[in-house]
Amino acid sequence: MRPSKVARAAGTGASVPIECCQICGHAPLDAVLSLGYMPPVNQMVRIGEVPRQQPWFPTTLLHCRNCELVQLGLAVDPVIIFPPEYPYTSGTTKLLRDNFADLQRESASILGLGADDLVVDIGSNDGTLLSNFKNAGIRVLGIEPTDVGDIANQRGIPTIKRFFGIEVAREVKRKHGPASVVTAANCFAHIEDVHAIVDGIVEMLKDNGVFISESHYLIPLLEAVQYDTVYHEHLRYYSLVSLQHLLEMHDLEVFHARPIPSHGGSIRVYAARHGAHVVQDSVQRMLSAEPRGEAMTKRLAAFRRDVILSKLRLLSMLRELKEKGARIAGISAPSRASTLVNYVGLDEGLIDYVCEIAGSLKIGRCMPGTQIPVVDEARLFSEQPDWAIVFSWHIADELAPKLKDKGFRGQLITPLPSPKVI
Ligand SMILES: [Zn+2]
Repeated sequence: MRPSKVARAAGTGASVPIECCQICGHAPLDAVLSLGYMPPVNQMVRIGEVPRQQPWFPTTLLHCRNCELVQLGLAVDPVIIFPPEYPYTSGTTKLLRDNFADLQRESASILGLGADDLVVDIGSNDGTLLSNFKNAGIRVLGIEPTDVGDIANQRGIPTIKRFFGIEVAREVKRKHGPASVVTAANCFAHIEDVHAIVDGIVEMLKDNGVFISESHYLIPLLEAVQYDTVYHEHLRYYSLVSLQHLLEMHDLEVFHARPIPSHGGSIRVYAARHGAHVVQDSVQRMLSAEPRGEAMTKRLAAFRRDVILSKLRLLSMLRELKEKGARIAGISAPSRASTLVNYVGLDEGLIDYVCEIAGSLKIGRCMPGTQIPVVDEARLFSEQPDWAIVFSWHIADELAPKLKDKGFRGQLITPLPSPKVI
């Protein structure tokens, strides 16, 4: 059964609580964890600006016992979370670029795509994913509501600058014909009316067309205590069980799924109309490895305990360093750092500054909800603070050697799953 009540925050200029499951409509939902009130992750005021009032929103995770979806307890108006000047571009991270190249290779080999096929990407960002299909000689079309869509158009990836919905889907089908593949990488957890999105996707697909989604995967999120990926952009935290439940409601069958490394642990799922493609063993393998029912309830309770302990351990480590007079900086300011900083209670008294690579749009601003300045990483090498916390800890293996090569002599801390000197 579809939810009788969809929490629609769009157009409210504020937020709406989620009172029943976004996938199956079940109520009441069980509380998993509260991270308190959080500022929107892109709310970064300029350094030195006089503090003024800012919106903060409750950040609570809920679990649906019926379909296993873990979800945020509040939907915030997308104009607050994704302003037109939204600074995120997917093409800037090597890991994501490599992943999109892999997605193209894998799907082309499974589906045998050719010049007549059309690939539509929802939430196409700067066109990085589609550029792989275009280079392989396949027709592409992006749909991206923010100004980042202009970058894609300039790069020769045709992009419609609108929020995706059934109207846009019908228009795409009329003008370009049905799609062989529709992709949604990391926006499938973001859009508030998920059933409307799947309706739009089904509308665009050929009879044997394939929908490929990539989303944060709940299982590695729990295992690596990645509570820092919980923020208002991410309305849903999918397991394969919950994703399959959603797709089945639209008569789509999951025929292949596998874990991928993006964002510290994601899942790539292939779905199509029933019987259109042979169901691979990967689906059952992944499903049987996921906890459900009582086992999931217990797993989530353990996660909550892990989150609370990780906060206390990080604070106690920083307290010891501060009592000895240490200078502590932060390395990189991804969205997830906002949740960590605000949940743990880090501020400019503990963290002197956070470094970003030259050219980052975040330089000259403060970490959300704090007055910790974000500065050019040149300062890290000139000032050589004793310690630095790696906020992009999920790619610390890639970052640490680079920082040492560039001349950083201090010690590095990864804050999660449990704080550690690396
Ligand atoms: Zn549900």
